[in-house]
Amino acid sequence: MNDPISDILQSKGLRATPVRLKVLEQFQGSDNAVSPKEIELRFDQIDRITLYRTLKSFEEKGIVHKIDDGTGTPKYAMCIDKCDEGHHHDDHVHFHCNDCGNTFCVEDVEVPYIKTPPKLKVAKTSIVMNGTCEKCQ
Ligand SMILES: [Zn+2]
Ligand SMILES: [Zn+2]
Ligand SMILES: [Zn+2]
Repeated sequence: MNDPISDILQSKGLRATPVRLKVLEQFQGSDNAVSPKEIELRFDQIDRITLYRTLKSFEEKGIVHKIDDGTGTPKYAMCIDKCDEGHHHDDHVHFHCNDCGNTFCVEDVEVPYIKTPPKLKVAKTSIVMNGTCEKCQ
């Protein structure tokens, strides 16, 4: 039996536990970034700490990336760019729809290089645009 979801976990060196499988399933089945709260609702019962730990390990392993869309609730989305453990390459722009509240990756739009004063060491530049998504127009 070859389950693509457990394959992802295995390739990242994570054991396919029921919680991990189900959390990862939520990302696979969604075009949007999902918040921990939304994932929590898909479970009959899940310990919040377990969920946060699961998300953190996914983030560390380069399975999902965190998006701060300015709403105050962090969201997570699957990594599409070849992300590795401890090394993300999600240099794309994100979009937050003011109508439906969804946030998603705009994979084909890269964050442009922004020239900064030499004394600033930039670790990551993120751009979140907001407006109206295709579905809400
Ligand atoms: Zn990533
Ligand atoms: Zn929308
Ligand atoms: Zn993204």
